Amino acid sequence: MTEVKNMQLQAFITSTLNVVITHADELTRLDQAIGDGDHGINMKRGAEKIMQELSAIYAKPDGEALKSMGMTLVMSVGGASGPLFGSLLMEMGKSLGSRALNKDIFTECFSAGIDAVKRRGRSDVGQKTMLDVLVPALEVLKNNEAGSDLYAKLKETVATSEAQTVGMMALKGRASYLGERSIGHMDPGARTCGLAIREICNILETAKNE
Ligand code: ADP
Ligand code: MG
Repeated sequence: MTEVKNMQLQAFITSTLNVVITHADELTRLDQAIGDGDHGINMKRGAEKIMQELSAIYAKPDGEALKSMGMTLVMSVGGASGPLFGSLLMEMGKSLGSRALNKDIFTECFSAGIDAVKRRGRSDVGQKTMLDVLVPALEVLKNNEAGSDLYAKLKETVATSEAQTVGMMALKGRASYLGERSIGHMDPGARTCGLAIREICNILETAKNE
């Protein structure tokens, strides 16, 4: 990822929102197994609300755009996921400020966003949540060596990480009410993160090869 121009950020935003919207039924099914069955509905509502505000969002500098998408999620999405994904984006935007995105700056912003999720959720890795995909992805970004295929590694890592939530027992959120019965199902929030990260990698790969 060299300089990520505003146009690319726009492509990320629309494609990522579309992926969430088209997978809403799957995300809801996952949440039906270990939660209250609203995760897909929640994420779709948030994504559609951001879609409605896209022209205003695109008019803003990248940092402000991220913050405003985060605020939209906090305000329009009920459930735990709205404030958590909202905090992720708001903190990423705050950390980005007026800087231009590149890989190192993105890694820094992503790290700040993940810390905000941890604070807001009073949660950490290993508890069967979205953090079980976000944190391994951050580790790949941090440890990536020049010349290695970052996007392939990221995609592989998020696929493995979301699959690993199946064997975990939920310790946070509604799924934790099920205790051991939460084992055997993929965490819906982790799946959302996996879908979004894979989509972003696909766009960056295409941009690189063009
Ligand atoms: P709710 O649980 O309020 O119905 P959603 O169904 O939209 O909200 O979102 C559930 C997802 O939110 C979970 O799959 C999990 O990934 C994430 N989640 C819930 N609580 C926490 C937490 N404390 N920290 C991090 N992620 C959490
Ligand atoms: Mg739910």
